Amino acid sequence: MVEEKKIKLKRLESSKILGKFMADYYYELDAAAKSGEKKIAWCTSVGPAEILRAMGFLVYFPETHSAMLGSSRMATDLIPKANAIGYSPDICSYLTADVGAYLEKVSPLAKVFKGIEGPPKPDVLVFNTNQCRDVQDWFNFYGEEYDVPVIGVHSYVGVQEVEDSRVKSIAKQMEELIPTLERVSGNKFDIDRLKEAVRLSRECSDLWKLVLDTAAAKPSPITFFDGTTLMGAAVVGRGTQEANDCYRTLLEELNQRIADKEGAVPDERFRIYWDGMPVWGRLSTHAKLFAGLQTNVLASTYCNSWIFSALDPDDPFDSMARAYTELFIVRADAPKEAYIRNMLEFFKVDGIIYHDAKTCPNNSNCRYGMPQRIEKLTGIPCLTINGDLNDLRLISDEQTKTNVEAFIEQLDENK
Ligand code: SF4
Repeated sequence: MVEEKKIKLKRLESSKILGKFMADYYYELDAAAKSGEKKIAWCTSVGPAEILRAMGFLVYFPETHSAMLGSSRMATDLIPKANAIGYSPDICSYLTADVGAYLEKVSPLAKVFKGIEGPPKPDVLVFNTNQCRDVQDWFNFYGEEYDVPVIGVHSYVGVQEVEDSRVKSIAKQMEELIPTLERVSGNKFDIDRLKEAVRLSRECSDLWKLVLDTAAAKPSPITFFDGTTLMGAAVVGRGTQEANDCYRTLLEELNQRIADKEGAVPDERFRIYWDGMPVWGRLSTHAKLFAGLQTNVLASTYCNSWIFSALDPDDPFDSMARAYTELFIVRADAPKEAYIRNMLEFFKVDGIIYHDAKTCPNNSNCRYGMPQRIEKLTGIPCLTINGDLNDLRLISDEQTKTNVEAFIEQLDENK
C-alpha cells in the first residue's frame, strides 16, 4: 500500500535565473511598446520566431500569457467574457481566457511585474496552424482590435511522413511572410541574420533537450511540473543568447543533482510519463499529490515540444519548415505512438497519464484508442484524467486524486 505523505518540494536554484530571464523579457517588451523604439511581433508558440528575430522584432507569445492566466487561476472567470462575444466555451481555453482578459483589461503581468499593465501592443501578428486552427482565429481577433496585419503559415495536420514536397511548401509560405515583415519593421531581410537566429535557436533546442533528458537518471533530478515553468525560455527566448545561457546553468545544477543522486521527488519509487497539456491552475497541487505518493511525473510530450532538432543554420528556411512540421502535434497517430514508445523506454517509465483536456483536442491523444494500443504493445499501464488546461470548471479535484491514488496502487501491486 502506497501511503500519501506531505512533501515539501525542493526548488531548483536555477529557477531564479529563469525567473529573471522572464522578467527581463517582459520589461523589454513593455518598454518597446511604450517607446515605439522597436517593433513587436506576436507569434504562436511554435511559429516562425527565428524569422521575426532576424527582422529585428521583439517577439511576444500570447500562449505564455494564457498559461499565466491559468496558473494564476484568473482564467476561469475570464472565459465567459469571451463566450459572451461568440467564442464557444468548447474551444481553446487559452484563446477564451486571453480574449476575456483583454476585454476586462486585466493581466497577470500587472500582478507579477510592477509597472507593466498588460501585454505589449503588436505591430504584426504571425501564426502557424501546425498546432491548431484556434491560433489563427485568436490572432485574427487581435488583428481587428489593433488594426495590424495578421499573416501566417497554413500547415499540414495528421502528417505520416514529413515528405520533401511538404517541407518545400511550408518553406515557401515562410519566405512569403517577408515582404509584409519588411514593410512593418522597416528593415530589409538579411539571410545572415536569419542564419544566426536559427543557429541560436538550434542551440537552445539542444540545451533544452539535454535538460529534459536528465530525467532519464534514477532518481530523476527534475519533474514535469518543474519543466512547465523552466521551459519559458525555450518558448519565448529561442533564438537569443540569454536563453541559452540560462539553460547551461540549469543543466549544471541538474547534472550535480544526478552526481549526488538527489531526486526531485524524495524516495522516488514510480516514474510516470505525462501526455497532454498541464492543468495550469493545479501545477502545485499535482506536483505535491504525486510527490506524496513517491511518484515522479518526469517526462512529457508537452515539454519536449520545444525541441527542434531539424533546425540547421546552413539551410534556414527548409530546416525551419521541417522542424515545425515534424513536431509531435502535427503528426498522425502512428508516428505519435512510435514517439511515445521511445520516450517510455528512454525514461524507464512505469506508467502513463493521459490528460484529456476538454478544450484542446489537439493536445489530447487519448480519444481514439491510443492509450490502449500503447499499453497492449508495451505492457505499461495507463490512466486518463479528464480536465482542462485553463478552465477549472472542467476539473474534479477529488476524482483526479482518487484516480491517481488507485493508479499508483496498481503500479505498486505490479512491482
Ligand atoms: S494547441 Fe490547444 S491549447 Fe494550444 S492554442 Fe491550440 S487549442 Fe489552444
